[in-house]
Amino acid sequence: MRIFDPHIHMSSRTTRDYQEMYEAGVRAVVEPAFWLGQPRSGLGSFVDYFDSLVGWEPFRAARFGVRHHCAVALNPKEANDPRCAGVVDLLPRYLAKDTVVAVGEVGYDFMTKEEDDAFARQLELAIEFDLPVLVHTPHRDKAAGTRRSLHVVRESGIAPERVIMDHLNELTVRMVLEAGCWAGFSIYPDTKMDETRMVRILQEYGLVRVLVNSAADWGDSDPLKTRRTGEAMLAAGFSADDVDQVLWRNPVACYGQSGRLELEEVPAVPDATFAGDSVLRGPRG
Ligand SMILES: [Zn+2]
Repeated sequence: MRIFDPHIHMSSRTTRDYQEMYEAGVRAVVEPAFWLGQPRSGLGSFVDYFDSLVGWEPFRAARFGVRHHCAVALNPKEANDPRCAGVVDLLPRYLAKDTVVAVGEVGYDFMTKEEDDAFARQLELAIEFDLPVLVHTPHRDKAAGTRRSLHVVRESGIAPERVIMDHLNELTVRMVLEAGCWAGFSIYPDTKMDETRMVRILQEYGLVRVLVNSAADWGDSDPLKTRRTGEAMLAAGFSADDVDQVLWRNPVACYGQSGRLELEEVPAVPDATFAGDSVLRGPRG
């Protein structure tokens, strides 16, 4: 089973996750920019983060045989923080880079005026740089938030097939597919969306323009949820080719619109390790 995880925050994960993902079949990922769990205090914090998304993280991933791409954006949560005004102006220099395959995550959190402005400006950047855009739909009041996001997308004039609406569920899938956008599903260990419900959605709505991701980050999440969904599909009677479409060919087609995907196999370095904190602690820990 070859797997492309189109939404995963590897900066929050360990090298063991990379090893297990490789063993499960994951060969490529997209890591969208998001918040750190606590507010950033200024622009420099974003510069360091974006630099690591285009520098350190692809290097680290390649050691474990995984191709790493990213999306950059001012996330909806921090669009409300005046200290982060100015991040959108930083984006063009990153959107020109080879491994940046989309603008994202953008969208709504609380649906404020500031979020509206950041969302609209970043849709303009996606059009200007001819890149797909990843839209995070809010976990609260999801149907209304998704409907409003689709409205903003339509107003922007971006081609719908360049838009990924993510974190969808049974209530929001139909409107997104009818709008012509990609329908992204984040499979979590808790109740938001699991692999059994995902299989039912695939049975009902088909496999076209559907993306499945783990959205794994520093929270309750599992970087192998893509694989588990593939297994659940097979158990439900889908073919290996169906699984390949959902877990590989669909994300390749979607993010391939950037013209920047690099999918040639990278040989994992045998026994790859990173010293990390042990360097600072010394041999006695
Ligand atoms: Zn995310």
